[in-house]
Amino acid sequence: MDFLKIKLEKLPRIGIKYGAILKKLNIETVEDFLLHFPFRYEDYSERILIENLAAGETATVMGEVVQSKLVRTWKKKMMITECFVSDETGTVRAVWFNQPYVSDSLTAGKGVRLAGKISQDAKGLFFSNPAWELSSRTPTNTGRLVPIYPETEGLTSKWIRWQMQSMIKYADELIDPIPENILKGLHLPILSEAVKSLHFPKTLKEFELAQKRFAFQQIFLVQLATQRVKISWDKQNAVSIAFNETLTKYFVQSLPFALTDAQRKAAFQILKDLEKPLPMNRLLNGDVGSGKTIVAAMASLSAINAGFQVSLMAPTEVLARQHYITFCEILKNSDIKIALLTNSYKEIKNFQFPISNFQSNPNEKISKNKSREDLLSKLKSGEINLVIGTHAIIQDDIRFKNLALVIVDEQHRFGVNQRAFLQQKIEEINDGLPNKIPHLLTMTATPIPRTLTLAFFGNLDISVLDEMPKNRLPIITEIILPSKRKDAYDFVHKEISKGHQAFIIFPLVEESEKLTELKAATQEHTRLSREIFPDLKLGLLHGKLKASEKEQVMADFKDKKYDILVATSVVEVGIDIPNATVIMIEDAERFGLSQLHQFRGRVGRSDKQSYCFLFTGSKTIKAKSRLSAMEKTSSGFAIAEEDLKLRGPGEFLGTRQSGLPDIAMEHLSNVKLIEIAQDYAEQTLQDSPDLKDYPLLQKELGKFQQNIHLE
Ligand code: ADP
Ligand code: MG
Repeated sequence: MDFLKIKLEKLPRIGIKYGAILKKLNIETVEDFLLHFPFRYEDYSERILIENLAAGETATVMGEVVQSKLVRTWKKKMMITECFVSDETGTVRAVWFNQPYVSDSLTAGKGVRLAGKISQDAKGLFFSNPAWELSSRTPTNTGRLVPIYPETEGLTSKWIRWQMQSMIKYADELIDPIPENILKGLHLPILSEAVKSLHFPKTLKEFELAQKRFAFQQIFLVQLATQRVKISWDKQNAVSIAFNETLTKYFVQSLPFALTDAQRKAAFQILKDLEKPLPMNRLLNGDVGSGKTIVAAMASLSAINAGFQVSLMAPTEVLARQHYITFCEILKNSDIKIALLTNSYKEIKNFQFPISNFQSNPNEKISKNKSREDLLSKLKSGEINLVIGTHAIIQDDIRFKNLALVIVDEQHRFGVNQRAFLQQKIEEINDGLPNKIPHLLTMTATPIPRTLTLAFFGNLDISVLDEMPKNRLPIITEIILPSKRKDAYDFVHKEISKGHQAFIIFPLVEESEKLTELKAATQEHTRLSREIFPDLKLGLLHGKLKASEKEQVMADFKDKKYDILVATSVVEVGIDIPNATVIMIEDAERFGLSQLHQFRGRVGRSDKQSYCFLFTGSKTIKAKSRLSAMEKTSSGFAIAEEDLKLRGPGEFLGTRQSGLPDIAMEHLSNVKLIEIAQDYAEQTLQDSPDLKDYPLLQKELGKFQQNIHLE
């Protein structure tokens, strides 16, 4: 009988009620339960004598209950259990709120262990809501490293620990997907041991090794996934796109500015890749405002000039539209036909289908609201050279005549799983070129530190834009304490009187706050319009607007119909308003550094001096020192490194993006572990390219990749 597959609700100790709660956490079987790990540990391993207790510390004491009583406070409608415990050195008080049953168990004379944080009030030191256990029992909740599980309504950490105790024996039946020799080589525990250590660690060292093992597993799976993509990718052919030096030079000379050296180098690397009959798979990793678009345009021009089609994909409608406008502008002296294809519109008649044929018709021939069918047929016939859009452009029914280059902007927003999907999808794209797949250029606006590129983009070649266009003045960044708020508002008035524009960003942190986003955004907009800037025009941008409405607001701001754009974090995605010179960020400490850097990149996009004001009410040293990194440097790469150090990789990437559990994230800055995982993945795939010899691993990888979906 396979105990691991037993449904939890069938177990009498759990039953239907708890079974249902667990199901909500995707925990259905004994195996799922065993793989539900603590997210942190309290260290109660040292027993402390009562005379040595100190306020603010975490401690375990052992003693005898001398008195216990249940007190009702009618005013606050609370039940307080108060209990005094003595050991050979003294007596300490413990209180529990609204847990009347505690007093039933902790009667005078019972031996007990208490573990928790020591607080102090007028009556002296006390434990507040400590974990407790009668001394007659083997310690699980106290007297050791106590695992703390993610709690849900109706499910406490204590309950999970209690259940885990009786279930942990089934861990021995777990079969390890990772080949034993690999784990042995790394001195890491096998799955069953690691599971036991995570739930009931005897020592710190033991659970650290167990965590490392799971981190390794995750990194190893990522490496297997990316290397497999790379192997199949490398076996493919692509069209070779001749590098036309004359055309490239002509194009560069037609630009109103000189390329930076970094742009020149990246463009050269890309154009050289395109010449090869092998598909390019390159990441353009550049800071905000470093000029990635021009580099992408040079690649596009080269492909189109050689007679092929190009597609450019952006994560949002707004960004797709902005790229469309930019490309139309940059390429206006050519006879390239560009189309915009997005699909947030439910009705087909709303589809945007402007084609510009600049050279043959200087008045610009733009046909809007063409049907999707019409657009698709022109993609298939090759009439459209460049299609720009959201992921609407990789839908199943889309056919190209000869798609040779796919560009994906802000690709970090697509997440690691989605990226793998994208690559598969691109292989499947019917590009009209038999036995050839398109070259792939991905771009990211969040500079990615080296360790992370190693961990996630092992299969990519990388070009870095770490240099800003020369005409830029560094943005002046200042942390503004509450007392200086008015001065900052006055400053904005002054900038606007010069004809410039400003952004005001305010945060909505929690997902759950999304519901009130509309209200918060509207309130803030009203407050600023009435009280601070009654003489100015303020636009409002928030996540509850429809894509088309967002675009309208943005377009109006660009057209100077507003002086100030009040926005929630939706503005983050690379919009380009060169006339904006000030950005004010409310509650700046609530954002990560990389995100702040993104916001800051909304200004300073012209030769005018720009400013970034970070409002913070927070006096904590941590928040301030974090924010002061923004004052000190304008380099996105430096900020990314700092951010990674401060917040750890999990938060840096955002779990949603990575799809990796937290424990693996903690190890992502471990270059050595990543390199080892890379080596083992390579060896494993050499032994058995389709993983036939490693069926468990193959299954695990399948599960891992199953979560792949494009938003
Ligand atoms: P990002 O890398 O953030 O996508 P963009 O490609 O949007 O940056 O470029 C930001 C702005 O800088 C654009 O207005 C673009 O025209 C301009 N730009 C790009 N390269 C240069 C350059 N070498 N010199 C001056 N301005 C440039
Ligand atoms: Mg960009």
